[in-house]
Amino acid sequence: MSDHARKLLHQHAKTTQLLGVDFHPLGNPPQIQFAVAAQPQQQEQSPPSQPPSKSESFIEPKPIHDFAPSPPKATIAIDTASIRASYESLKDPQAKLDALKAKYADDAPHASFNMNFTNIVFGEGSPTADLMFVGEAPGQQEDETGRPFVGRAGELLDKMIIAMGLSRDSVYITNVLKTRPPNNATPTVDEAHLCAPYLIEQIRIINPKVIVTLGLPATHLLLATTQPMRAMRGQFHPFPSPQFADAGLPAIDLMPTYHPAFLLRAYTEDNRRKVWSDLTQVVDRLKLNKP
Ligand code: URA
Repeated sequence: MSDHARKLLHQHAKTTQLLGVDFHPLGNPPQIQFAVAAQPQQQEQSPPSQPPSKSESFIEPKPIHDFAPSPPKATIAIDTASIRASYESLKDPQAKLDALKAKYADDAPHASFNMNFTNIVFGEGSPTADLMFVGEAPGQQEDETGRPFVGRAGELLDKMIIAMGLSRDSVYITNVLKTRPPNNATPTVDEAHLCAPYLIEQIRIINPKVIVTLGLPATHLLLATTQPMRAMRGQFHPFPSPQFADAGLPAIDLMPTYHPAFLLRAYTEDNRRKVWSDLTQVVDRLKLNKP
């Protein structure tokens, strides 16, 4: 076996191990396990007949957004100029993000739909990350800690990030909504649009090479689509989409994939394989996009 083949095999084994995948020699289909307890299978696009009760579920029982697309508006009125003014004079990207968070807290775009939260969960990670994950909205643990993706879905996201050969602090993680919705409800299109300008400015500051949208709310918002996840995932989409064309953002590759909370609830080998396939495409694209 050549050194190159040996190296590839070693990398493959390491990645699959990290992901909790049972290693199979190349050629055999991998048995993908994200190393969490299996959940009953659910079908994409059809609501579960019996959603798990709070006691049964190891994640908060949220409406499963991957099943509930809602139509985005054709265009979003984004006044990012006034938001940009809050950080533009600063040089350091983390200082810019801090100023943007302060501006968000002042503007409180969530005020019309949610004031019943503990912490603003603005985002965390490297302010110059090549890879940015955009989820849906903080859950209970995120609300309590002020940090995104720290509950069960976050544990799974951490495993995915490690399996990609990255670390949590080398990527940036945020959500469409920065405050926990009442009853963990899926963000409405209007709520997402109210918070969108701040997400757009986060993207502008971080300037990632790739964005991964986790679940439908982030995918629908950023790609201005109502397509189901099965039609969107598995391929890169150009961002900014036309509805954000005026924001003057650079071109970024966007990969939609299933939300980790969805994966936890529908923990089938097929779903895990699909997510892993999406993420390996992202790893390859990050290498290609390296300057
Ligand atoms: N789900 C999300 O979409 N975001 C979080 O931060 C946690 C759970």
